[in-house]
Amino acid sequence: MTTATFPMQILSDRINQMQESATIKMAKLSRELKAQGHDIIDLSLGEPDFDTPQHIKNAAKEAIDKGYTKYTPVPGYTELRKAIVHKFKRDNNLDYTIDQIVVSTGAKQSIANVVFSVVNPGDEVLLPAPYWVSYAAIAELAEGKCVEIPATIETNFKVTAQELEKHITPKTRLLIFSSPCNPTGSVYSRSELEAIAKVVRKYPQLYVLCDEIYEYINFTGERHTSLAEFSEVKEQVITVNGFSKGFAMTGWRLGYIGAPLHIAKACDKMQGQITSGTCSIAQKAGEAALLADLTECQKMVAEFRKRRDMVYGLLKQIPGLKVNLPDGAFYFFFDVSAYFGKSYNNQILNTPEDISLFLLNEGKIALVSGEAFGDKQCLRMSYATSEDKLTETCKRMKAAFALLQ
Ligand code: PMP
Ligand code: GLU
Repeated sequence: MTTATFPMQILSDRINQMQESATIKMAKLSRELKAQGHDIIDLSLGEPDFDTPQHIKNAAKEAIDKGYTKYTPVPGYTELRKAIVHKFKRDNNLDYTIDQIVVSTGAKQSIANVVFSVVNPGDEVLLPAPYWVSYAAIAELAEGKCVEIPATIETNFKVTAQELEKHITPKTRLLIFSSPCNPTGSVYSRSELEAIAKVVRKYPQLYVLCDEIYEYINFTGERHTSLAEFSEVKEQVITVNGFSKGFAMTGWRLGYIGAPLHIAKACDKMQGQITSGTCSIAQKAGEAALLADLTECQKMVAEFRKRRDMVYGLLKQIPGLKVNLPDGAFYFFFDVSAYFGKSYNNQILNTPEDISLFLLNEGKIALVSGEAFGDKQCLRMSYATSEDKLTETCKRMKAAFALLQ
């Protein structure tokens, strides 16, 4: 007779099959090593190192004093949704009504709401790869089948409208992509998006989730283009955005969608059962962020741009790396495959994961392996940290790679 352990610690297949977020896992690992006294430079998590601008913090303090401390309407305060409508018009020339806006606990929840609202078990979810880690995990949780559309550094990690169309089948329900992109920093141009819109228009069963959370961190010099601006596809597009990146508000947990009304209603229903409206104080802060001018954001973006240019120069000097110049966000995604098959202490490194662990242990720098982003050649490095730390990172990386034989 076998003896059962008590309690039996049974978990659902769903959670057992889910991968832990690779970005969060690496950040945790590097925090643990730091706590043990190791001098780790952590560039794993995509998080601005800047503090939230003062006028936004003041609005939150005021919100507490004015009694914004109760449950909020599930899709967000009307005033905040009005501010989002205003933002969509001001920045994106998009017309949404208030009831087409749903505010959530981070863009991560916005994405989950949308995926659970439109994907049935077995539906195909198209992911131009590399893609942000959580898209695949959320789609799989909804029992969707992820279909990757691969892109490499040679095309700046972008897929063409033709490549997209080749992957569409009668089972395709949702396309998810970010521009500017996490993890690659690539930005789709207006004409590339127009070509994608023309393809999307041909498939009325297809929705597109456009993740624009890095909208402001764009170095192309051109105005950001939203896919929803192409009126022929507006009814198929859900625009996701948030406050974490552009306003340095990661901890406030605030994101939102602009969507066709039936999808906004579905997300509202979903959220009403699992989280209710997000934090009242964060919402009042978000309203202030959107209604003020963007000077503080622009200062941060200028700083990101300076760092990008500096890091590009340093990475180019490391033998074996294939590096492109990202147009937005705050990541480099570089190809380390020249080091596959090389070894250190008789251990052969065959994958980006092997290399990221080697760099963590021997170089004391935390980067994220491309595998979690659907790429088997690259590592992601966030450059949302000081120039000193970035210089030191590149120095350590160069020295660590020189140890490989
Ligand atoms: N989308 C992308 C592309 C991201 O990099 C992130 C990471 N924060 C999110 C969505 C989620 O952002 P948040 O939940 O912090 O709003
Ligand atoms: N989105 C950020 C990243 O890609 C933060 C971590 C996360 O939410 O997964 O690193």
